[in-house]
Amino acid sequence: MTESDKPRRVLLKLSGEAFGGGKVGIDTHVIRRIAEEIVPAVQQGVQVAIVVGGGNFFRGAELQQAGIDRSRGDYMGMLGTVMNCLALQDFLEQEGQSTRVQTAITMGQVAEPYIPLKAIRHLEKGRVVIFGAGAGMPYFSTDTVSVQRSLEIHCDEVLMGKNGVDGVYTADPRKDPNAKRFVTLSYNRALVDNLAVMDASALSMARDNRKLIRVFGLEGAGNVTRALVGDEIGTLVST
Ligand code: UDP
Repeated sequence: MTESDKPRRVLLKLSGEAFGGGKVGIDTHVIRRIAEEIVPAVQQGVQVAIVVGGGNFFRGAELQQAGIDRSRGDYMGMLGTVMNCLALQDFLEQEGQSTRVQTAITMGQVAEPYIPLKAIRHLEKGRVVIFGAGAGMPYFSTDTVSVQRSLEIHCDEVLMGKNGVDGVYTADPRKDPNAKRFVTLSYNRALVDNLAVMDASALSMARDNRKLIRVFGLEGAGNVTRALVGDEIGTLVST
């Protein structure tokens, strides 16, 4: 098999905020729609791994503000990501899509442990692999985990699905009518100008390892499928 025959393999990052539809808990309509848009891409041969955030339940830094020990709050955040994973798994399975959830904190009754070679095998078999519980370590974010997993399981791109915005802009387009969307953007510019790609630790890991990142809007109908199959939507972040 030549390099160009290799199936496309991507890491899709879905924030907890998207799953919650802006509230605490899950918005099943949103998750069902995302699941429905993932399936056609898999049917076209794209290998899809997913990291799901947990901000719709808990963020350790916010819990710390409310007086909870930071690490314990971070573990609560990681457990929240697992609930999101199970919801997404359920809607994908309802669509007839085979899935596996792998978690960085072992919980054998609900998910497999994170085993990278096994994840690759699942992807090769056409299963969607959903990674939960972040890195299993406090003080990390699911953005960082997205880049790390994409490196470890050899994804071509990290696809950052965003809520309320369809790419990276010169300023917040919800506040500044003159804000312009970047079609392409360098890692360094994104880091120096603190642009809304992903958190800085994650972005510097992507830069150091030259991992392509595409930022796109989750809301437009069909956008998730388009990003997964490789349409040039949103903003591409590269060297
Ligand atoms: N978290 C963590 N380690 C990780 C991933 C996540 O401690 O490797 C915790 C952290 O408290 C974080 C929360 O889980 O705030 C939810 O994840 P994140 O904020 O990345 O989710 P998102 O903002 O994408 O919804």
